[in-house]
Amino acid sequence: MSGLPQYGQRSDASAAPDCPRHPGVRAVDYCKRCGRPMCIDCAIPTEVRSICVDCAQELRRRVSPSSPVVTIGIIAICAILYVMGWISPAAERALTFAPVLGYSEPWRFLTTAFLHASVFHIAFNMLALYWVGRAVEPALGHWRFAVLYILSAIGGSLAVLLWCFVQPASFFTATVGASGAVFGLFAAIFVLQRMSGSDTTAVLVLLGINLVYGFITSGVSWQAHVGGMIVGVLVTWAFVALAKPRRGMTAKVQEWWARAVALGMLAVLIAAIWGAYALLVS
Ligand SMILES: [Zn+2]
Ligand SMILES: [Zn+2]
Repeated sequence: MSGLPQYGQRSDASAAPDCPRHPGVRAVDYCKRCGRPMCIDCAIPTEVRSICVDCAQELRRRVSPSSPVVTIGIIAICAILYVMGWISPAAERALTFAPVLGYSEPWRFLTTAFLHASVFHIAFNMLALYWVGRAVEPALGHWRFAVLYILSAIGGSLAVLLWCFVQPASFFTATVGASGAVFGLFAAIFVLQRMSGSDTTAVLVLLGINLVYGFITSGVSWQAHVGGMIVGVLVTWAFVALAKPRRGMTAKVQEWWARAVALGMLAVLIAAIWGAYALLVS
């Protein structure tokens, strides 16, 4: 409360900071929820002191979370591509990832995460995606969730590529499926629970069982699971850290920072893919 007038105290106007949403306008109080300074226009009264407009919006979103449209969209794309695979196997082959093909046709790193090998494969992955996406998408917001999913999918393919350093023959092996990206979402649940201080035992057991299942079952790309999981942890951690309210910054400015960091993370993945190919084909 330093610098702001308390009851029965003389105000020292020169010490009060500016409202971060209205530069040049002096703050009259600090938001009781996020601690950001706020001017008279930004202060929204509650029963006990005021909160800022950013926090009011955030609380409204929590009371009525929007439906997981990105999750449903991804499931729809996977279903459409699965049907397309029946009609035109050639079209499906153009989207499948194998390290040998990804160098000249880099879209395969992402598109392969929307393809599935069997009815059982797609049913299992979509069930897991719906179940986890319904929890993660409202917590992160739509665009962050979409970025998390896409980067985890690319991370899964990158791990498959990196495995070629250990096992050169896998350079010619095709990998399809959403499971790398779904592992990214499981990892996101872990990070979200961990950072909010909740119990993470259940999600860790679930992750462990699925990882072990991937290791012992032939034909399952455990490399993609591990890659998606690592990327999922890093992306979610970065988004949650960047969303923590900062005193001199509005929620909107922090949102732009998060977008810049998302682009940066994509650039890092692309650089890693490029570097791996440079070493593998030399
Ligand atoms: Zn606030
Ligand atoms: Zn203001």
